[in-house]
Amino acid sequence: MDNITAIFKEKKLKLTPQRIAVYKYLQSTHEHPSAEAIYKSLQPSYPTMSLATVYKALKTLVEVGLVQELNVGEGNFRYDGRIGTHPHIQCMCCNRVDDIEGITFDELNNTIKPYTDYDIVTNRLYFYGLCAKCKVSNE
Ligand SMILES: [Zn+2]
Ligand SMILES: [Zn+2]
Repeated sequence: MDNITAIFKEKKLKLTPQRIAVYKYLQSTHEHPSAEAIYKSLQPSYPTMSLATVYKALKTLVEVGLVQELNVGEGNFRYDGRIGTHPHIQCMCCNRVDDIEGITFDELNNTIKPYTDYDIVTNRLYFYGLCAKCKVSNE
């Protein structure tokens, strides 16, 4: 909570209830929800908040660096309240997205260097497979 107050203040952004709700929701989940999923989850507590408002709040939160936008290759984005670089894995069966803990791929930036004349800033890695639940039901 202190975090969002301080950063919003610093960026001279208004701390609207909608922005706070979206941010808090993302902090409370590891599910990497889409905007639609966030909208549906917040509906009971914020019945007047529209999907467009959720999108606008997300856009702002991404711009100020409080939320990370993920493109796992679907038609829509997923959102992540954890902003440090970390790899993700998506289930090809139920589409859930999880963090992969305990490993970073910062070394990859150096590995790639000889193969490009770009200055590499960052990388994003997405792995794909079957989650534990789907693995069981596929057996
Ligand atoms: Zn699955
Ligand atoms: Zn994540």
